Amino acid sequence: MKPSAFNYAKPSSVDEVLGLLSEHGDEATILAGGQSLMPTMNMRLSAPSLVIDINGLVDLSGISSDGDSLRIGALTRHVEIENSPEIAKHAPLIAMAMPSIAHPAIRNRGTMGGSVAMADPAAELPACLCALGAEIEITGSGGARKVAATDFFRGLYDTDLGDGEILTAIEIPKISAGYRSAFDELARRHGDYAMCGVAAHAKVDGGTISDLRLVFFAVGGTPVAAASASAAMEGQSVDDNSIAAAQAALEEDISPFDDLHCSATLRMHYAKELTKHVLTTLAAG
Ligand SMILES: Cc1cc2nc3c(=O)[nH]c(=O)nc-3n(C[C@H](O)[C@H](O)[C@H](O)COP(=O)(O)OP(=O)(O)OC[C@H]3O[C@@H](n4cnc5c(N)ncnc54)[C@H](O)[C@@H]3O)c2cc1C
Repeated sequence: MKPSAFNYAKPSSVDEVLGLLSEHGDEATILAGGQSLMPTMNMRLSAPSLVIDINGLVDLSGISSDGDSLRIGALTRHVEIENSPEIAKHAPLIAMAMPSIAHPAIRNRGTMGGSVAMADPAAELPACLCALGAEIEITGSGGARKVAATDFFRGLYDTDLGDGEILTAIEIPKISAGYRSAFDELARRHGDYAMCGVAAHAKVDGGTISDLRLVFFAVGGTPVAAASASAAMEGQSVDDNSIAAAQAALEEDISPFDDLHCSATLRMHYAKELTKHVLTTLAAG
């Protein structure tokens, strides 16, 4: 199918984007990498009357190091993040997740901002950003504001982005000394959206885990922080007993659902197995 007829604008500044959003309201939509938007338009699941192509906003692209944090412009392509030495060094969780996002052709065009704004519950980056304590920068007519990633994702495809606002950047705290990350997911085929996945970040001191943040994706409408399972590991070393305790606590944290890909029971089983895997990986270093 082809999309409904639409008008097209290619502004060259954020101010111009904001002007167009204010003028056209709900009728306008932002085009970044187009990897999610164009399929939905082609299937006529969305039919904006104006597509605002932000690919000319060069200032929104790129990764920079700013003191204790990394700043990733909204228009930075997945491939650039995947190949970035800065990301590998200072945000290894993101580097671990990147190869699981779709396929190389999609990662060549898809953007950080698009993934985050889309808020697909099975997407990898939102869960990683929550686990890392990242902040989302949103710009509107009143200027820029920052929202914690954990507050940004509100529901199924629903975020804190308001009318007339654009996501401009992501800020990620650089990994602190003694902290480690681990990532894993299960998908039917490599590159498919996950049936279940988890991002993990913790302090590991001589094999003892503290400040663990386990954040699951594809188990609910948003990234789901497994607070009880994470708390169960506080001050523990990773062994059969502590893994079993974390797996048991996980039942308080997530309520998986049935869908075409797997049952809720199987999804819970996957979540427990992934928990075991990331805890073992964290401990192994
Ligand atoms: C076959 C296939 C498999 C995929 N598998 C995965 C996967 O496993 N994991 C995964 O995470 N993703 C997957 N994706 C999605 C892919 O990662 C997309 O790149 C991503 O979802 C959207 O990024 P984009 O830049 O293409 O955004 P677009 O498609 O351009 O936009 C997506 C949405 O975000 C809005 N938007 C984009 N940028 C901004 C901004 N700066 N401010 C405000 N709103 C904005 C748009 O208006 C639109 O509503 C897959 C896609 C396909 C086609």
